[in-house]
Amino acid sequence: MNTFEQLGVSQPIHQAIKEMGFENPMPVQQEVIPYLLGDNNDIVALAQTGTGKTAAFGLPIVQKTNVTNRYPQSLILAPTRELCLQIAKDISQYAKYINGLNVVAVYGGASIETQIRSIKRGVHIVVATPGRLIDLMQRKAVSLKTVSNVVLDEADEMLNMGFTDSINTILKEVPKERNMLLFSATMSREIASIAKDYLNNPKEITIGRKNESTSTVEHIAYTVQAKDKYATLKRIVDFHPTIYSIIFCRTRRETQEIADKLTKDGYDADCLHGELSQAQRDSVMQKFRMKHLQLLVATDVAARGLDVDHLSHIINYSLPEDTESYTHRSGRTGRAGRSGVSIAICNLREKGKLRSIERIIGREFKHQEVPTGTAICENQLLHIIDKIQHVEINHEEIEHIIPLAYEKLAELSKEELIQRVVSLQFNNLLDYYRNNNEVETAKDNGRNAGQSKRKGRNPEAGYSRLFISVGKNDKFNPGCLLDLMNNNTNQRIDLGRIDIMRNFSFFEVEDDKAQFTVDLLNNKRWNGNKMTVEFAESKGPTSDNSARRKKRKPSRAERGYTAARGPKRNKKNKRKRNFESAGSR
Ligand code: AMP
Repeated sequence: MNTFEQLGVSQPIHQAIKEMGFENPMPVQQEVIPYLLGDNNDIVALAQTGTGKTAAFGLPIVQKTNVTNRYPQSLILAPTRELCLQIAKDISQYAKYINGLNVVAVYGGASIETQIRSIKRGVHIVVATPGRLIDLMQRKAVSLKTVSNVVLDEADEMLNMGFTDSINTILKEVPKERNMLLFSATMSREIASIAKDYLNNPKEITIGRKNESTSTVEHIAYTVQAKDKYATLKRIVDFHPTIYSIIFCRTRRETQEIADKLTKDGYDADCLHGELSQAQRDSVMQKFRMKHLQLLVATDVAARGLDVDHLSHIINYSLPEDTESYTHRSGRTGRAGRSGVSIAICNLREKGKLRSIERIIGREFKHQEVPTGTAICENQLLHIIDKIQHVEINHEEIEHIIPLAYEKLAELSKEELIQRVVSLQFNNLLDYYRNNNEVETAKDNGRNAGQSKRKGRNPEAGYSRLFISVGKNDKFNPGCLLDLMNNNTNQRIDLGRIDIMRNFSFFEVEDDKAQFTVDLLNNKRWNGNKMTVEFAESKGPTSDNSARRKKRKPSRAERGYTAARGPKRNKKNKRKRNFESAGSR
């Protein structure tokens, strides 16, 4: 392994990074630094956060800066204000012993005039979010004609955030002769396309395997029912008394809700999402960095650029919409060689998603049972004992009160004293776990679990369940069913539950229109294929004779769609799903 000196890092920079604790170059730095110190060298680097990529591009950029020319020589684009600030701060630290090197971070949500003034004072390295940079370019406050190094950091995130056009506009303004470096955690089609359009014969560097997760991160999944998600989160947190974690949610609302619940339940938690003002976000981040908060509940976008190194866990309260974001989330733990854990709380339906995440990260989830109350209490007890064993005793400060304590507690035996200390810490927790059922892992009863469940599914009273021989694989969805009915009759028919399976589907219609619907649709063509439509009970796996005979009142869940799918929960929806009015959908 080469040292920083052997990679060509100059003495003043070496001195500065030594003070930052950098002893040996990290793998990405080994590869990138010598290459970027040359001219007209382009790189595509697949590297996660935490691999040392900022120094990989930052050190050569600082070293190549000609301080006497007070115009922009390097441009670094990053997706968020926080990341810009972090990069600018890191670069300033690398340049600690280089007099007069100016780095400016420009980003939205802050005064553009102040930023313009900083640029006018003379800047060598511009760290920018794409939107704000375009704004500055349009105001002619900055010119990129002198730039000879361009870095796109977290390029995949910039594209995810809709910056593709801005990036194209910016890159067109940069001279053709330059070093260009594109960092991304994952290699998507869009990234490949940017690389193809703007990079010249780039060197490809992959730190770890392509799209692989940081090797020091362990991935754990808890599969539970939706109603048990919060209880599972609580148990995970209680099971790890020293947890320091970001909890990822999918929406702002969910983020706020979970943070509120955690706070109400006595945890040091707060939330970070886009509806907060910049001042509120700064304050939350500051508290989290200083570990005044143990748990930060955040959306993906809000947490970007939040640079915290010692996270013990990442918790996916909801799996990300886009499976690749999982790598970004989990890459926030296990940084700089430390170990970390990324936890997914998911439901049975998300099995497929877990598998595609496994393909992307190149490793498997360990499926675990949710910690039991007993296991949690044991862990907490061990933690308290550990704290008691290691607490620092400030003899002088407590000297005067100790005799009083001895006197008051004199009658207690050692055993009683220990019992009381433990109870003092524990009673709430013990009460909670005594009064709450364990969280069961949701079980999948084999491949056909969904089908066999459907076998016993009763249609709503007054409705019949029909089978139709088209499904998801035929691109069939509830809207298609409505269209199909609309196109074949003018009669008003109320539809009940619709279950779209992979190769076929089921739907419910009013009893007295069931035979009519079968006659209407059976043997009709859909997308060119002839369909079979018949009573579901005549299909072996879905037969439901007894249910149809008894017509028991179905549960709420059995009656409607789930909320996310547009439930048949109120009259308004029911009317919408009536195919007479379906045209107005
Ligand atoms: P980054 O991937 O740039 O966010 O870096 C992750 C962490 O690794 C940061 O806290 C850096 O300060 C630290 N780091 C970067 N390079 C080195 C190095 N060569 N030795 C030790 N720590 C480093």
